[in-house]
Amino acid sequence: MAQRILIWFRNDLRLHDHEPLTQALRAGGQVIPVYCFDPRQFGTTSFGFPKTGAFRAKFLLEAVADLRHSLRSLGSDLVIRKGHPETLIPDLVKELNISAVYFHQEATSEEISVERSLKQRLQDMGTRVQPFWGASLYHIDDLPFELSHLPEVFTQFRKSVEKQSSVNPTFPVPTKLLGLPPVDCGDLPAFDELGLETPKTDPRAVLQFEGGESAGKVRLAEYFWKRDCLRRYKHTRNGLLGADYSSKFSPWLALGCLSPRYIFEEVKAYEDQRISNQSTYWLVFELLWRDYFRFVCVKHGDRVFYPSGLRQLDIRWKQDGDRFEQWQLGETGIPFVDANMRELMLTGFMSNRGRQNVASFLTKNLGIDWRMGAEWFESKLIDYDVCSNYGNWNYTAGVGNDSRGFRYFNIPKQANDYDPKGDYVKHWIPALSEVSGKKIHEPWKLTSDEQQRDGVRIGVDYPNPIVDLWKSVKHNEAVYNAALEKAGS
Ligand SMILES: Cc1cc2nc3c(=O)[nH]c(=O)nc-3n(C[C@H](O)[C@H](O)[C@H](O)COP(=O)(O)OP(=O)(O)OC[C@H]3O[C@@H](n4cnc5c(N)ncnc54)[C@H](O)[C@@H]3O)c2cc1C
Repeated sequence: MAQRILIWFRNDLRLHDHEPLTQALRAGGQVIPVYCFDPRQFGTTSFGFPKTGAFRAKFLLEAVADLRHSLRSLGSDLVIRKGHPETLIPDLVKELNISAVYFHQEATSEEISVERSLKQRLQDMGTRVQPFWGASLYHIDDLPFELSHLPEVFTQFRKSVEKQSSVNPTFPVPTKLLGLPPVDCGDLPAFDELGLETPKTDPRAVLQFEGGESAGKVRLAEYFWKRDCLRRYKHTRNGLLGADYSSKFSPWLALGCLSPRYIFEEVKAYEDQRISNQSTYWLVFELLWRDYFRFVCVKHGDRVFYPSGLRQLDIRWKQDGDRFEQWQLGETGIPFVDANMRELMLTGFMSNRGRQNVASFLTKNLGIDWRMGAEWFESKLIDYDVCSNYGNWNYTAGVGNDSRGFRYFNIPKQANDYDPKGDYVKHWIPALSEVSGKKIHEPWKLTSDEQQRDGVRIGVDYPNPIVDLWKSVKHNEAVYNAALEKAGS
């Protein structure tokens, strides 16, 4: 009988470029694919938000269903369990006489602690455990420096990997798998079992995201090959409206439905067959940011979650619940912030430009604890990824490893630059839909005649600003500088 190897699927819900699967098949093993819905992922964050909100839960359920479908079409199946992997997997190992467990390792503490206890239990049972690294473009073992010497500045990291490392080729998709031994394969949980309600879709969303490797590959084929968007990516990527200003690959990357190496190979094919330009380079450049945050988290461990961040700056953050709620709900009276926050709440997505602005507003204007913002993103984002989320929040809050002093976004300027006609703001804030000209981004400046003309009453239909943008920035700059001084930097 072929040895049985259990493949524990986690944030790697795909069959392409899956090293554990490939190595199990190379070892001549009978593969037992398993996915566990871990109730801890559906609990609450420390500030009390659902850890996995409904948009991401829907995407996850679709991704797991798609994986099962693909495995079935190869002759196998996906065993689905609800509970703690460190208990359920050893049970399956006993039940099915499994000799080894392979999986992709993660980078941050909650995931690593599950891995550790699973490993311990399996080793106690005499079962071989083999973790693999698989979430980044550059393999961790191929970095041109020890991880402890990972540069604290992104550009240095990028330049050295670009010069001294290379991206490994993808692992092939298996063409056939052995059928499973008799086992209860289990069902996908329903929404209410996860403590959630089915999310409502909003027709204004940039894209109706569908989870799974199949839908991820379709999105890539459309963005690169069918609509030829890659050739303009560098010039469109800061957009706000519509499906194609940026790739929207992030949800599929976050759950591993698309591997970054697969995207890289498609970029190279596009460069060979169509055009190689700054835009094709820039998509890979952005994937390097994703790699960087992952390696930073491995290097610095839990520091990325501390209020003082990677930079260990003891800033007096506020935890003002009322102000925070106005930010969450898109009721701050700053239209560019509110439009973005409403988009996040109603769709589970927000552009990179939007994320930078709302994070800057929360931390540099409201002076609120960045972790509250990071947890709200964790709850809401379809593309939530621990390292990218906490890494970017550290960076924007000014506590990241390479943050350069007190930097903030000039929000009305950003709004004018990236939403010059106010189309984005009007898309999400119907109360402002008739406002014309530059005051769309500063509606508190509308005279009462203008308010009457535009059918909006500021302070009634749409709020007055909850802070003065300039005074609040100055105040929080002083708070930040006091922390810098205390740290002696
Ligand atoms: C405060 C804040 C929180 C964020 N939280 C997340 C998160 O939880 N998950 C997440 O995937 N991204 C996060 N990002 C990064 C970025 O906003 C998203 O990756 C991007 O908007 C996703 O859209 P896209 O796939 O169309 O990106 P594209 O512009 O098409 O970029 C292609 C890919 O490159 C990667 N990428 C691009 N920008 C970044 C970046 N700044 N950091 C890391 N990777 C990047 C993503 O994997 C993305 O899918 C965050 C950014 C900020 C400022």
